Amino acid sequence: MEEKGNLQKRVLNSVLFFAVVLLIAFGLIVLRLAITNKEDAAKSVVVESDGSILYAVPLSDDQTLSVKTEYGENSIRIERGKVYVENADCPKQICVHTAPIRDIGQTIVCLPHRVVVSVTAIDLRKKE
Ligand SMILES: [Zn+2]
Repeated sequence: MEEKGNLQKRVLNSVLFFAVVLLIAFGLIVLRLAITNKEDAAKSVVVESDGSILYAVPLSDDQTLSVKTEYGENSIRIERGKVYVENADCPKQICVHTAPIRDIGQTIVCLPHRVVVSVTAIDLRKKE
């Protein structure tokens, strides 16, 4: 009788242990998702030319930004959490060939047009 009681206790302990592990795993996943979402939402794209800010918009808003300066034109595309230079009339097209950026601190530079596109940690979302 005593042994049977012990077995039940052990089974119960195993089930409890398994439930706790599952709960912790689930909690971690939820926490991770929450942090990831927050990071994504807080990113923004800043476009500067000659040191002045032309655009500052959330990275989460898909759109095309047109930059026209005395040096030339750049068309900057924000799409699915990434930003890249879609078109430019600069001679070497280095900015157009730069891979899309998405992480805080990354930049795309168009030297001849003195345009700098950067991803920053500024939260530009409208507060509800
Ligand atoms: Zn360029």
